[in-house]
Amino acid sequence: MTDVLAIAEHRRGELRDVSYELISAGRGLADDLGGELHVAVVSGQVEEFARRLDREGVDVVHTVSDGEEFNHGVYVQAVEALIEELDPTVLLMPNSVNGLDYGPAVANRLGRPLVTDVVDASFDDGLVATREMYGSKVETTVEVGGDRVAAMIRGGEWPGASGNGDAEIREFEFEVDESAVRTSVAGFEEVAGGDVDIADAEVLVSVGRGIEEEENIELIEELADALDATLSASRPIVDNEWLPPNRQVGQSGKTVTPEVYIAIGISGAVQHVAGMKGSETIVAINTDPNAPIFDIADYGIVDDLFDVVPALIAEFE
Ligand SMILES: Cc1cc2nc3c(=O)[nH]c(=O)nc-3n(C[C@H](O)[C@H](O)[C@H](O)COP(=O)(O)OP(=O)(O)OC[C@H]3O[C@@H](n4cnc5c(N)ncnc54)[C@H](O)[C@@H]3O)c2cc1C
Repeated sequence: MTDVLAIAEHRRGELRDVSYELISAGRGLADDLGGELHVAVVSGQVEEFARRLDREGVDVVHTVSDGEEFNHGVYVQAVEALIEELDPTVLLMPNSVNGLDYGPAVANRLGRPLVTDVVDASFDDGLVATREMYGSKVETTVEVGGDRVAAMIRGGEWPGASGNGDAEIREFEFEVDESAVRTSVAGFEEVAGGDVDIADAEVLVSVGRGIEEEENIELIEELADALDATLSASRPIVDNEWLPPNRQVGQSGKTVTPEVYIAIGISGAVQHVAGMKGSETIVAINTDPNAPIFDIADYGIVDDLFDVVPALIAEFE
């Protein structure tokens, strides 16, 4: 019996963190259902991935070896075939760029209700999923009808599963219909600065419009260097092209959960806070004592960043 099937995600030979978060979310749902958690990995080095996905709480890992990187046509067919064979009560996928590409197509083909961008989930008589609305100002709980459902989880909301498991690893026998695969991956090109994933950083130094001019970003870079931290930003900095899009934190940027988040000259608009409120410790530097960022900051410095940041650099260097 398969109660929950979670589809892992990988890129360029590496499993992405959300794969382990899917295991945690899936194990919780499988416990609610009193049953099994199956995980599937499609394309790439599936045997190696399967070994890594064998974490505590996983009952079976299914491998589908076809192609190296994500391909819409292959994923839609593979996930559909897995579901037809395993008939899980809950299909779990990542709410990532790839997940959003194949997930709705699969749910539509199988006639399953789909909840996207889920931040919490349980199973009672049916799936109970929590989503955020109005720029994360309110949470809404959705009870999903139907005894076969699909959900896509937001990265960074569940802890990554740890501990070695003793899952059975099964090769999934499945023939891709090549005539239904209309795209191929010609190569992989990172956007400028794409080598950095701010979602992985333990310490983020984040800069906002208070920095005034592009040339002043250098000062914040110096602080990031002194702290061995990664540089991120609010949206105006990215809109001005002072930093590349992969550095943007927030609703239309990345969700981050570092140990320390230092917000410098950032007001704390809801769209920004949506992406960083899960940080363990938040430090804010802002001249305006009424800036909303201070509502969520653990430590606040009400002062001019052009005085505070050089003092911090001197202290940490
Ligand atoms: C659909 C939508 C999606 C969005 N997505 C995002 C998103 O993903 N990420 C995001 O960040 N925003 C996003 N926004 C934009 C968001 O609404 C805000 O406009 C933005 O976050 C403001 O950025 P900021 O805090 O850097 O600038 P501001 O709001 O202008 O704040 C600048 C702050 O700097 C302070 N300051 C000024 N000078 C100094 C100084 N010398 N020293 C210290 N402090 C100083 C000011 O007091 C002020 O609080 C989105 C908006 C919409 C409508």
